[in-house]
Amino acid sequence: MSDTPDSAVRTYTEQHRAAFLDDLAAWLRIPSVSAQPEHVGDVRRSAEWLSAKLAETGFPVTEIWETPGAPAVFAEWPSEDPGAPVVLVYGHHDVQPAAREDGWSTDPFEPVIRDGRMYGRGAADDKGQVFFHTLGVRAHLAATGRTTPAVHLKLLIEGEEESGSPHFRALAEERAARLAADVVIVSDTGMWDENTPTVCTGMRGLAECEIELNGPDQDIHSGSFGGAVPNPATVLARLVAALHDTEGRVAVPGFYDGVTELTEAERALFAELPFDEDTWLRTAGSYATAGEAGYSTLERVWARPTAEVNGIGGGYQGAGSKTVIPSSALVKLSFRLVAGQDPERIQEAVRSWAEDRIPAGIRHRITFSPATRPCLTPLDHPALQAVARAMGRAFGTKILFTREGGSGPAADLQDVLGAPVLFLGISVPSDGWHGPDEKVELGLLLKGVETTAHLWGELADALR
Ligand SMILES: [Zn+2]
Repeated sequence: MSDTPDSAVRTYTEQHRAAFLDDLAAWLRIPSVSAQPEHVGDVRRSAEWLSAKLAETGFPVTEIWETPGAPAVFAEWPSEDPGAPVVLVYGHHDVQPAAREDGWSTDPFEPVIRDGRMYGRGAADDKGQVFFHTLGVRAHLAATGRTTPAVHLKLLIEGEEESGSPHFRALAEERAARLAADVVIVSDTGMWDENTPTVCTGMRGLAECEIELNGPDQDIHSGSFGGAVPNPATVLARLVAALHDTEGRVAVPGFYDGVTELTEAERALFAELPFDEDTWLRTAGSYATAGEAGYSTLERVWARPTAEVNGIGGGYQGAGSKTVIPSSALVKLSFRLVAGQDPERIQEAVRSWAEDRIPAGIRHRITFSPATRPCLTPLDHPALQAVARAMGRAFGTKILFTREGGSGPAADLQDVLGAPVLFLGISVPSDGWHGPDEKVELGLLLKGVETTAHLWGELADALR
């Protein structure tokens, strides 16, 4: 347990709150939309603004890292403590597109504070959550009387996350030596809700595949040829039907090899979350749950691998009828992966599973997009426990654990740096990521400041 007095952190945060919010508003005014060519200059301006702000915060090293696309910001603050653990914080400074006519109540790039919330594009995703680290490290120093952080602190804030991070992996590989860390903290994430602070422990990976089947050289008459040659649409339907067994398990041989199973402790903690399945179904716009037998909805979404049909087609789909055997059929599949699954082995397993089921006379093309690896930090990892303790001190309540069903570039850092990835975010589902009236709850933002103020001491103690 660190000796940082919690009240000193709170007082420091309160004293600097107004200037902190003014600075964040100034950053939100820069429309750093990475997807839109007309904002190329703004994304650069955002990187320069952040780099200058980090220097002002006290980081002795701040650099703009160029990529073939938008620039990233790197900052480093070594610890005077010999043997201090090295921590890398990841976030992004680019934002989703936004326009008043999308349904915003006010200009998305002219932030306003209403009812204890700051509204503006990037308030939660992700500028607000990057920014709490600036005041957080100052509060850490002020409350402990230190002149350098208790950990060797590094920040990498990329500029292309909202455009799919096309150059991120290459950047991480190229700069792996500078980025080397014992732990990666991702602050581009959220908590369960306003009253339930949580730490996310992992994300699923993703493998995507397209299977095209070709039969006759062109569509042919079903009366003249039907029943006597293979039909690619029928073969494709059989393939898709064979994807799952009757228990909802993926039937590709070897698919579950190496899967990290949920522990009883984790299942019990998931079950403590105030999850309401009816509300969840309404959000999904779906009318029933379905999936792998023996698992709850949250477990299915967070901790189990899946196979989904994302698109399927072949043959005539216009009005009326057209009696043909189609020449081709196509399906797009995606597989969400969990810790222990290797995307390359999954791709090979899917390929041989499909090829085994394609009869003579049907030619096939199976292609895979670049895969994203899963990442997971076990509940008993000392760094994860340190994050939960720091958050518990800030929020004054029990911290629960979640996972993320989606996939992201964080896994690249785990992969390239060989360091566990931990997720620390204070955003809540109502923050409206990517939508109109994106906002951040100021109370939670300041809890983020307090959490990071406690975190560096907690991590140094836990990892030494
Ligand atoms: Zn984000």
